[in-house]
Amino acid sequence: MSQLPGFSISDRIGMVRDRIQSAASQSGRDPQAVRLVAATKGVSIERLREAIGVGLNLAGENRLQEALPKIEALQNTPVRWHFIGRLQRRKVRAVVGVFDVIHSVDSLDLAQEIDKRAGFAGIRQDILLEVNLGEEPSKGGFYADHLERVLPQMGGLAHVRVKGLMMIPPLATVPGHSRPYFRRLRELAHSLSRQSIGDVSMGELSMGMSDDFVVAIEEGATLVRLGRAIFGERDA
Ligand SMILES: *Cc1c(COP(=O)(O)O)cnc(C)c1O
Repeated sequence: MSQLPGFSISDRIGMVRDRIQSAASQSGRDPQAVRLVAATKGVSIERLREAIGVGLNLAGENRLQEALPKIEALQNTPVRWHFIGRLQRRKVRAVVGVFDVIHSVDSLDLAQEIDKRAGFAGIRQDILLEVNLGEEPSKGGFYADHLERVLPQMGGLAHVRVKGLMMIPPLATVPGHSRPYFRRLRELAHSLSRQSIGDVSMGELSMGMSDDFVVAIEEGATLVRLGRAIFGERDA
């Protein structure tokens, strides 16, 4: 699916939407419960505009420097922004309030910094907690048992609202190989939600990318982050 030269962005978005619809319906889920986040790293403002023209309304950026000019240029369009990349503490101030959801909160320290900055700005920032289910040292994200221990402290942050979990599974050669990770994320969210901590909600599961989003939806994804399936292969 990611290797389809000759298709326009509009074609690709149409195909992606069809696949989201059928994956949701076939697994007995409401297709409206799955939101498409276009991963827009390396994608120009013009191509993004084309996607927005055919109904794209959520974009996810990895890097603040790359995001800011796009956000500025597209501020008169309906697109909303999510932050999906690794977030450095010193960038938090510029991210808070600009992005509706930060998907990639991977430490208590980072959550506390977001809380502080959101407090200064007089807002409440929605966040997702990134989980490193494969326990890969090269990746960000909480190990599941650690997350269980720090979640009560997250619940105590007045200017942060935890909405769910995010995960990038270990690299797989076949999409089906990611299924156990998607399932475990859903189960983890379920078990964390039973701790019923204050304002902590586990309703959002950000999982699934171009090669495996169908499987992720079958396992409960509510936010799929797709780059190549919409914009084609990225230049190296
Ligand atoms: C690039 C990126 C994606 C999208 O990846 P594709 O394989 O192009 O769909 C999703 N999530 C994150 C965090 C990314 O950096």
